[in-house]
Amino acid sequence: MRSLPYFCRGQVIRGFGRGSKDLGIPTANFPESVVDNLPADISTGIYYGWARVNNGDIHKMVMSIGWNPYYKNTKKSMETHVIQAFKEDFYGKVLSVALVGYIRPERGFKSLDELIAAIHSDIEEAEAKLDLPEHLKLKEHHFFKTSMSTTASQILNGHRL
Ligand code: ADP
Ligand code: MG
Repeated sequence: MRSLPYFCRGQVIRGFGRGSKDLGIPTANFPESVVDNLPADISTGIYYGWARVNNGDIHKMVMSIGWNPYYKNTKKSMETHVIQAFKEDFYGKVLSVALVGYIRPERGFKSLDELIAAIHSDIEEAEAKLDLPEHLKLKEHHFFKTSMSTTASQILNGHRL
């Protein structure tokens, strides 16, 4: 995928309310404007990368891009699970992400347990891959240094550096 690493940011919106948080794997949703800006070569599937909420620390993340076959969604989404425990929700805050690498295509699951196991294995893979020097150095990328306002009018949706 030529577009990787891909950098984008947007305000976190409410998702489909299907209780990912109850599974211990909350996923922060990007607005449609960010999803619509994805380059054509970024195919659906599971990605790993870096994420930052507002001007906070940069954490590892896994992101699902796609149609979420398990839930038979009809809408494309970009859902980021930040590999970090947060004390509070961050709806409305600005999420900045660097998509660094691809893990696997989307697929359906026979059970919720199978889905959860797959996500845990994705998280493990993300954790390991992001420790590689060439991926660690992306935390220092100019994109994350941008002094960022949290007012919606100054958000760069789908910003590509
Ligand atoms: P929704 O359907 O609204 O996306 P989720 O159950 O998937 O609901 O929870 C996602 C929300 O949880 C995020 O929008 C964010 O505000 C909050 N959240 C808390 N911790 C995390 C985390 N580690 N990664 C992603 N989102 C988190
Ligand atoms: Mg979600």
